[in-house]
Amino acid sequence: MKDLKYDVLIIGGGIAGSSTAWHLAGKGIKILLIDSKPWNRIGDKPCGDAVSKEHFDNLGLPYPEGNQLEGKIEGIKLYSPDMKTEWTVKGEGFELNAPAYTQRLLKEAENRGVEVMDNTTSMKPLVEGGRVVGSVIFNRRTNETLEVRANVTVDATGYSMSFRSKLPQPLPVTEPLDDKDTDVAYREVLYTKDEIEDYKYLKIFVSQKASPGGYWWYFPKGADKVNVGLGIQGGMGYPSIHEFYHKYLDTYASDVDKNRLVVKGGALVPTRRPLASIVWDGMAVIGDSAFTVNPVHGGGKGSAMISGFCVARSIMNAVEKGDYSKESMWDANMCYIQRYGAKQASLDLFRRFLQRLSDDDIDYGMRKKVIKEEDLLTASEKGDLQLSVAEKATRVIAGLGRPSLLMKLKSVAEYMKKIKEHYAEYPSNPEDLMKWKSVTDSLILEFNKTI
Ligand SMILES: Cc1cc2nc3c(=O)[nH]c(=O)nc-3n(C[C@H](O)[C@H](O)[C@H](O)COP(=O)(O)OP(=O)(O)OC[C@H]3O[C@@H](n4cnc5c(N)ncnc54)[C@H](O)[C@@H]3O)c2cc1C
Repeated sequence: MKDLKYDVLIIGGGIAGSSTAWHLAGKGIKILLIDSKPWNRIGDKPCGDAVSKEHFDNLGLPYPEGNQLEGKIEGIKLYSPDMKTEWTVKGEGFELNAPAYTQRLLKEAENRGVEVMDNTTSMKPLVEGGRVVGSVIFNRRTNETLEVRANVTVDATGYSMSFRSKLPQPLPVTEPLDDKDTDVAYREVLYTKDEIEDYKYLKIFVSQKASPGGYWWYFPKGADKVNVGLGIQGGMGYPSIHEFYHKYLDTYASDVDKNRLVVKGGALVPTRRPLASIVWDGMAVIGDSAFTVNPVHGGGKGSAMISGFCVARSIMNAVEKGDYSKESMWDANMCYIQRYGAKQASLDLFRRFLQRLSDDDIDYGMRKKVIKEEDLLTASEKGDLQLSVAEKATRVIAGLGRPSLLMKLKSVAEYMKKIKEHYAEYPSNPEDLMKWKSVTDSLILEFNKTI
C-alpha cells in the first residue's frame, strides 16, 4: 500500500469540498481532494440549483458565468395550497449549472496547486491515539489502495456522511440523522412547450396534500427550461415521492414538454440544526454531511459554502499554529454558528411547526397575513420570527378565530428567539460542548411538546 502525506485531505468535491479547496488553494499548503465520481460528473447531483447571490458576495466566491449560469433570479413567488394567495418576495440569485460551476471552482483550485483525484473513494478513516490522521482510499483509475495521511481530513461527503459515519467511536461529529429530520426530494429538468412567463421568478407551491411536510418548486432555467420537483418529509411512511410527482406534475407544471427531459433524479436532504461541532481532532465536517441545509426551504448550497469558508479559515489558522486539535480549530464552529448555524437552529423549530399545519391553516395564515411577506423574508434571512408576529397574534386572536393556531404561532416565535439566544452562548471551547448540547436537546424536546 502506497503512503501519501498532505496537509489537508478533502473527501468529496461537491460545492462544499470544491469551495473549501478554492479558498485554501495557493496558500502554500499541500492539499489533496478526492471524489468517487469521474471529473465530468463532479457537482452533478439532484438539486433545484437555486442559490442566493448574497452567498457569493459574502464569501468572495466568483459569480457563475457562461455555461455555469442558467438563469438570473429576481425573486420568489409563494403560493398557498388553495392557490388563492400569491406572495412575492424579491431577492437576487442564480440558477446554476451545478456541475459546470463546481468543476470551475475545482479547476481554479487545481491551477493554484490543489491535487484532484477523481474516481477515488475514501474507504475508511485512519485514526491514531483518538485523532483522525487521514484515510484509506481506493483509486479506480489505477486500481490502487492508498493510505493518505493528513494533518486535517475534511469530510465533504454530502448526505452519505460516508467518512464520519465510519469513525470508530461516537463523537459530536458522528451524530446520526433522524429520518424525520430529512426531506426526500426529487426533480426533473424539462423544456417547456412555450416561453415561461416571469421566468426570473422561482415559484414555490405549499401543499400538505401534494407534498406533505415539504413543497413543490418550479425553478425556470431561462425562458424555456425548468427545474421542477418536490420534497416530502422523511420517516413518516408517506407513499413514494414518484407517486406524488406523477400525480401532481400537471397541477404545478402543466407547461412542460414531457418528451424533452434533460435530467431526472432524487436524493435526501437533512433539514435540522447543524452538527453540534464541525471540527474535532484532525478533522472537520462541512456541507450536507454536517447538516448545514436550511431546514425550511431545503437550500443547502449557500450554507455548504459558508461551512467550507469557515473551515478553510480555521485550517489556515491551525497551519500557522502547527496545531490541528479541536481546540485549535474551534473558531470554525464560532464562525459557522454566527454566520448561519444559529439561524438554522431557529428555522429547525419553525420547520417542525410548519410541517404540522394543515392546508386549511396555511391558506388561512397566508390569506389573513398572520405572517407577512416581510416577516417571512426576515425569518428566512435571520431566523427571527419577528415579535410583530407574536404581538399581532395576540391582537388578532379574539377577532379572527383559530385561537389555538395563533397561540401556537406566538409560542413558536418565542422558542425561536430562545434557541437563537442559546446559540449566541455557544461554548468557546470543546470542554463545555456536551453541557451546551444537552440544553439544546432539551429545548427541542420541550418545543416538540409545545406544538
Ligand atoms: C432534489 C433536491 C433539490 C435541491 N434544491 C436545492 C436548491 O435549489 N438550492 C440549494 O441551495 N440546495 C438545494 N438542495 C440541497 C443541495 O443540493 C445540497 O445541500 C448541496 O448540494 C450539498 O453539497 P455538498 O457538497 O455538501 O454535498 P454533495 O453535493 O452531495 O457532494 C458530496 C460529494 O462527495 C462525494 N463522496 C461521497 N462519499 C465519498 C467517499 N467516500 N469518497 C469520495 N467521495 C465521496 C460524492 O461523489 C459527491 O461528489 C437540493 C437537494 C435535493 C436533493
